[in-house]
Amino acid sequence: MLDRRRLVLGASGTLLLTLAPWQIARGARMIEVRMWPAEEYTRVTLEYDTPLNFKYFFVRSSHPLRLVVDIKGLELTPALQKQIAAVKAEDPYIAAMRIGQYQPDTVRLVMDLKTDVRPEVFQLKPYANYKYRLVFDIYPAHPVDEVGRLLEGADEKEPEAAPMPNEKDDPLGSMLAGLGRSDKSEKQPSVKSEPPAAASKSPGKGKPPVRSSSKKNDGKLIVVVDPGHGGEDPGAIGRRKNQEKTVVLEIGRRLAALINAEPGMRAIMTRKSDHFVSLGARVNIARRAKAHLLVSIHADAWIKSSARGSSVFALSEKGATSATAKWLAQNQNQSDLIGGVNIATVDKQVQPIIADMTKNWTISYSLGLGAAVLREMKTVNRLHKNQVEQAGFAVLKGQGIPSILVETAFISNPEEEKLLVNRRHQQKIAEAILKGIKKQFAANPTLLQS
Ligand SMILES: [Zn+2]
Repeated sequence: MLDRRRLVLGASGTLLLTLAPWQIARGARMIEVRMWPAEEYTRVTLEYDTPLNFKYFFVRSSHPLRLVVDIKGLELTPALQKQIAAVKAEDPYIAAMRIGQYQPDTVRLVMDLKTDVRPEVFQLKPYANYKYRLVFDIYPAHPVDEVGRLLEGADEKEPEAAPMPNEKDDPLGSMLAGLGRSDKSEKQPSVKSEPPAAASKSPGKGKPPVRSSSKKNDGKLIVVVDPGHGGEDPGAIGRRKNQEKTVVLEIGRRLAALINAEPGMRAIMTRKSDHFVSLGARVNIARRAKAHLLVSIHADAWIKSSARGSSVFALSEKGATSATAKWLAQNQNQSDLIGGVNIATVDKQVQPIIADMTKNWTISYSLGLGAAVLREMKTVNRLHKNQVEQAGFAVLKGQGIPSILVETAFISNPEEEKLLVNRRHQQKIAEAILKGIKKQFAANPTLLQS
């Protein structure tokens, strides 16, 4: 939701420091320092009220290895110094941080690193409730295979993936990333208001697209479980301050566990902790895993607290089936802007071109899957909409991978918020989604022949 209130963060594994706002002579007013440690990457966010100039580089001769960031326009105060030094989360990559006055107009932030890393440093313009953000995404220099790690319950070690292209040897070249660039983040996702996509009369029937077999497949149905939001993006927030990102992660974990208890199925989660995953990265995880299905889990919100019920969505490439679906897709697609993605790297993600036949099959199967899940959701909660709706959700664009988005309930409805945080109800939702998947698959087993 756009008009969400200032977040109350601090879930386990997350360190939040709220700084008392103060004004400094020429510089920016620091609002908050946030840290989101995760295996995938650790994010450190500085939030302040005016744009800053910054550059960063490694000191490789030092032990430990250090990442140094010089920030112009942010003057040092003892309070900031104290707050930064206090950042001692259980972090896989950062051992310690400190900040000092390097030059009269330059503050130097030093991160002692536990291992070799590949940092992405970028600045975000104000969006939603956030002001300017300077973001440090600290990735491991030699990441373990992402899909292998995300296999829920997987115990075998996957071989190391090739390291990503690295900017570390040219720190100057990557300085000021995110500054002075045209703000592509103002691009809004477009959903044309044309008639809804004509869905197949028999959803999910027919032949699935041919794909290369996955070494991780083992003849199993691979289901990507995608808990929405995370990290800087809390999703919708209920009256009791429960956050969508937290409840959908809990439901997602339960669903993944249920899937893995099925002998013929395997779950991959797009996130297992409270960190931000971009919409494109979610789709890429599904692609790399050669997933058969993707289920994105969310909780709805509306201005009126009386709105209630579950709904299920599938992708439409030809317009939304209702104004609400269109609005919801636009809202969900803003996750990247709230969560904060590095535009410089996101733009490099290229969508493969696939045939219309595959697209039609994928959407048709998604509609069948959505209908099956909706029928089961009806047994645990009332429905907000009786049929699967369609709109241009970015997270459902894994071409060739049938994908649905389940709005489990309205977190903005106090009664449903209570249900969403209730463990038994979370389990019921997960069971309903699994039942829907199994029924759709039983009726259309060709999915696995792909
Ligand atoms: Zn959501």
